[in-house]
Amino acid sequence: MTENIVIVGGGTGGTVLANRLTDDLAAEIDAGDVRVTLVTDTPEQTYKPAFLYVAFGKKTLAEARRPVADLVDTSRVDLRIDRVTGIDTDAKHLDLDGDLRRLDYDHLVLAMGAQLVPDEVPGLVEGGHHFYGPEGAEALRDALAEFTEGHLVLSVVGVPHMCPAAPVEFVLMADAWFRERGLRDDIDITYTYPIQRAHGIKSIAEWATEEFAERDIRLETFFNADEVDPENRTIHTLEGTELDYDLLVAIPPHAGNDMIREAGLGDDGWVAVDKHTLEAKDAENVYAIGDVADVPTSKAGSVAHYEAGVVADRLAATVRGQLPTATFDGKTVCFIESGMDEATFVEFAYGDEPVVREPSTLLHWGKLAYNESYWLTARGLL
Ligand SMILES: Cc1cc2nc3c(=O)[nH]c(=O)nc-3n(C[C@H](O)[C@H](O)[C@H](O)COP(=O)(O)OP(=O)(O)OC[C@H]3O[C@@H](n4cnc5c(N)ncnc54)[C@H](O)[C@@H]3O)c2cc1C
Repeated sequence: MTENIVIVGGGTGGTVLANRLTDDLAAEIDAGDVRVTLVTDTPEQTYKPAFLYVAFGKKTLAEARRPVADLVDTSRVDLRIDRVTGIDTDAKHLDLDGDLRRLDYDHLVLAMGAQLVPDEVPGLVEGGHHFYGPEGAEALRDALAEFTEGHLVLSVVGVPHMCPAAPVEFVLMADAWFRERGLRDDIDITYTYPIQRAHGIKSIAEWATEEFAERDIRLETFFNADEVDPENRTIHTLEGTELDYDLLVAIPPHAGNDMIREAGLGDDGWVAVDKHTLEAKDAENVYAIGDVADVPTSKAGSVAHYEAGVVADRLAATVRGQLPTATFDGKTVCFIESGMDEATFVEFAYGDEPVVREPSTLLHWGKLAYNESYWLTARGLL
């Protein structure tokens, strides 16, 4: 009997996993004992970290995209460009948007990422820019190019959000970029964060707070945007305060997936998983990796990558009739740009307090080199 492994989502986690499985289970796939199906709703994968550079005119969207069919071995992976619209974990099948037939699975891995829900905050769509999606990053590039004086506000609207360091990177890059162009004296920069410090991780928050102070970037904590008034260019907060802006760059609220809630896999739309095994808590033979999983670490590509390796090992053991033993320790690595030509780097696992390294040009080049080699990672080669 053929064991059907179905992966939903052809982003970082889904493609790394598909490639790890075709490597580890090549013999079983070729013998017809295992089938790997990857269902994803867009024919191209977009490398989201590139959006930060698109906003400053340093990269184009075309450079950030590759066909998923070029990233996986389609002789061993059944690639379906389709949207999954429903999950039945009792009958073990998925509903597909463009295919009347249902797709059965024996083992399911959910890797659908996170969704942006900017319309949860009234006025945010009309009044704010962002760099968390392709169109947003391009529109922000044009707005930044025209912005020569006034108040730039970067507001993180709700947690969790993808890449917790990206908002810090954005303001440090903006500061350097405006200085390079001789505009910094005419531009005030404010960074707002919803909790009591500048970042969820204490050591990163302390480092960012010092950097902000040195560069004259204002920091507002306990700042939860409730409504944006685009006409008067004002943000109103749940705390009852107001902040005026000339250019608002907001990190939009993020959401999991209604389908997850409807399938009983997670009340808040993120899949409730065991943080070490990545198995769904509320269904059998279901895993979740990447941003859609509710593990207590960053929503980051590095996390999706390491989780994919763990799930590949566990699935390979399971289909061979062995007890799966691989576990995820929360490993997260992150380069953080601290200007236009310097960066720092942190690495940590569950419960660790990362050490923030001294920023350097070498680490900045390390981040750019990683960005260039990302497609090797997605192919499972790094
Ligand atoms: C501006 C920005 C900067 C970032 N910088 C970094 C960084 O420097 N380092 C880092 O590690 N991470 C960074 N990240 C985060 C990183 O991009 C994500 O954490 C990573 O992409 C998560 O991978 P994933 O596989 O979980 O989801 P994704 O890569 O988002 O892939 C999900 C895929 O699932 C598909 N999908 C969704 N729903 C369905 C459905 N119902 N049916 C079929 N397919 C579906 C989507 O179309 C998508 O292709 C950044 C993110 C942003 C936005």
